[in-house]
Amino acid sequence: MQESTVQTDGLTSPEVVFLGTGTSVGVPSLGCDCEVCTSTDPRNQRTRCSILFRLPNGNLLVDTPPDMRTQLLREKIPLIHAVLFTHEHVDHLYGLDDLRLFPFRLGHGMPLYCEPQVEARIRRVYDYAFSDRKPTHPGSTPQLDIVSIGHEPFEVLGTRVVPIPLKHGPYFDVLGFRVGNFAYCTDTNDVPEASLERLMGVETLVIDALRYAPHPTHFCVDEALEVIAKVKPKQAYLTHICHDLDHAKAQAKLPEGVYLAYDGLRVPLPG
Ligand SMILES: [Zn+2]
Ligand SMILES: [Zn+2]
Ligand SMILES: [Zn+2]
Repeated sequence: MQESTVQTDGLTSPEVVFLGTGTSVGVPSLGCDCEVCTSTDPRNQRTRCSILFRLPNGNLLVDTPPDMRTQLLREKIPLIHAVLFTHEHVDHLYGLDDLRLFPFRLGHGMPLYCEPQVEARIRRVYDYAFSDRKPTHPGSTPQLDIVSIGHEPFEVLGTRVVPIPLKHGPYFDVLGFRVGNFAYCTDTNDVPEASLERLMGVETLVIDALRYAPHPTHFCVDEALEVIAKVKPKQAYLTHICHDLDHAKAQAKLPEGVYLAYDGLRVPLPG
């Protein structure tokens, strides 16, 4: 078994792995026989949204979607050192239990960096992880170490993380995250002015773009392009994509420097 001091296997320079790039129901969507859901292009197979920062001091996961276990197996990621949460929606949280094995290798609970409303949901849904009952055997419940965050920058695995407060429809405030000159902003339909300022200077911006038609809680493609035009990153990637976008056809219509993300895509982490 790998020692916790062995941080990342064969990492030559920091990178970001797109573990999942699909909307909440995934693509293909159950029961749908549309052109995209039946496509043989692997870039049209989108699991639920998550990225992984492969940093010099460890693997920093963003969100624990229901597909997390298969995503980590697919990308041959042997260990997660800490998790950041954007928000508490099912498609971003409900794979959490599958982190259960990693505390054995880490020698401590899994650090979960999240806002209070996400913590409240975790404590409700995974109440058995916080029970006073003596465990029957090691690993019988997840060991979770919650670290409360707000809107101030913080450090995790020796890396500075800047939260980007975002609106996600009328009822949800979520966080994007900036690490160096890379920013990840999924599940949003509004970037407040102060948050736009926090994005300025990024070289790589990942942003929500659900579909072509407007949506009450997600950016559509044109709205995402408007944000990209304001931030002016060197390159931008669209994520949280539904089955309305065929990868090849949608990519052909995007401006220069804007790309559709896809599951398994790896990009360098700009310093
Ligand atoms: Zn989502
Ligand atoms: Zn479909
Ligand atoms: Zn959401």
